[in-house]
Amino acid sequence: MKHYLEVQFTLSGPLPPESKGEIEELFKQFTEKTQESRDKGEFKITEWKTKGTKLDITISSVDSLSPHVAVLRLRKKLSAAIGKKYRVGLRGFAFIKYIIETELEEKPVKEFTLPLVKNLEFFEEKGKSYVKIEIDPEIEEDFVEKGAIERIVRRVGEKISKQHYGAKREHHQISWYSGEKKHHTEENPTQMMQKANWIQRTNYRNQWILSPTITALAEALKHIMIDYVYEPLGFNQMMIPKLVDWSIWLRSEHAEGIYQGGFEPYFVVQPKSADPEYFEEIADYITITKTIPLEKLAEKVSAPIGGLSYAQCPPFWAWIQGKTLAKESLPIKVYDWSGPTYRYESGSAYGFERVDELHRIETLFIGSPEQVKQIGMAVKDKLRVIFEEVLDLEVREAKVTPWWLQQSAHEDEMDSAEDLVVGTIDYEAYMPYRGSREESEWLEIQNISIIGQKYPKGFSVKAEGNIELWSGCGGGSFERFLTAFISQKGLDKDNWPNKFLKYIDKLPEPVKFH
Ligand code: ATP
Ligand code: MG
Ligand code: ZN
Repeated sequence: MKHYLEVQFTLSGPLPPESKGEIEELFKQFTEKTQESRDKGEFKITEWKTKGTKLDITISSVDSLSPHVAVLRLRKKLSAAIGKKYRVGLRGFAFIKYIIETELEEKPVKEFTLPLVKNLEFFEEKGKSYVKIEIDPEIEEDFVEKGAIERIVRRVGEKISKQHYGAKREHHQISWYSGEKKHHTEENPTQMMQKANWIQRTNYRNQWILSPTITALAEALKHIMIDYVYEPLGFNQMMIPKLVDWSIWLRSEHAEGIYQGGFEPYFVVQPKSADPEYFEEIADYITITKTIPLEKLAEKVSAPIGGLSYAQCPPFWAWIQGKTLAKESLPIKVYDWSGPTYRYESGSAYGFERVDELHRIETLFIGSPEQVKQIGMAVKDKLRVIFEEVLDLEVREAKVTPWWLQQSAHEDEMDSAEDLVVGTIDYEAYMPYRGSREESEWLEIQNISIIGQKYPKGFSVKAEGNIELWSGCGGGSFERFLTAFISQKGLDKDNWPNKFLKYIDKLPEPVKFH
């Protein structure tokens, strides 16, 4: 890797001429030390000069210390050397020019740009592919300190590999199957439920009104979850917030996968002012025209402050963020069904199995690696009993690429011990109306993941006595459970399994319309 940097430090005052020798010596020692600490490569401070309150330095390096890292280190050393003696402080630095040249594994399919990069140039030499990255000189100092340069270089490679292989390779391996079950219908479950007035579309995309009839079935499923999973395994219910600000999605790393396939949130905005006068014009307009002036309204609201609950568990972590959990409180075992989750499901209109406003059950557990593995497997086994025995569904389990690997670029960040057990299992149900078992697409109704250290690390959570902390979680929606169930069993209660019927006192009669 080749680097060339021209950087300018701003000083609190001019440096006296007698300081020159000292600075020269400091640079010389720094260069020598850098060279000594590496057996290859070349690091050079090729030029430096001061003029007024500016100190300009030019650094070039080949397969050696990156100049921007050198700048961060030199800043400290310079401050110490000239601060006390000459009463001159370092105010900060700015890049004049920063060029990084590195070899690429593959050449890009097409050119692209990146934020904080002024120019990207791809070229070939002797059959090898290279990129010349010119960093935007306006890049903020604190971004440089926090690793943005390194991530820019990594991002170039990631984007090229994505161009070649598309999104992350999907992995799908069936690990268990209930075997064939008798199904009582081959009709489309959404249409059946619509005709029976169990569910009704709203004016808004992929949103439904759940009538008392279907709500009674969702309630039955809640009781089943409690009796079969949460009671025996000692889980407690809690209420996780459903409005999620950026700080959460930054730490959970959802933000960096935004609309990249796997994280499609609804955004939330705030009024720029809550003063009645600020909105008076809008209110008058609506009163007179009975329409909403959307563009005018858009001017009066902020950029998104975050969005609506998407994956349900991330906002949980704000509760224990930065804390040290007492040993006696571990493992933590909770579940949440306190409100809907929102996803912008793009494409055509979907049925009840793919809605924009969904009602999910989230199951979440935190503890030592052993605890988390043990709980994860226990939850998985109990869920199997619910799907296979209580609901009598034809289902299978599949090991799949975990969502957090699908949406962000962190494959290489998992350590190998985690690698063996960390992962996701999906439950999938056969949907007879879609065709044969072999050829049709089965419906994912639930997943369960052992996530390892990702969340405790991301939210800086520790445990007493430095116990390593892991987490795991799973989710499944009532919409998916019920679509799968109706798809196999139909609407007629006589065809429903007794173990399920036990949980339904009386199914409310659907409201009839004339
Ligand atoms: P799919 O690939 O089918 O879109 P997903 O991978 O996006 O599913 P997850 O993010 O793993 O789903 O969420 C877990 C569970 O949430 C799913 O198993 C399903 O029960 C439920 N779920 C997800 N998206 C929807 C949706 N749009 N409508 C209803 N339920 C959903
Ligand atoms: Mg999805
Ligand atoms: Zn979760």
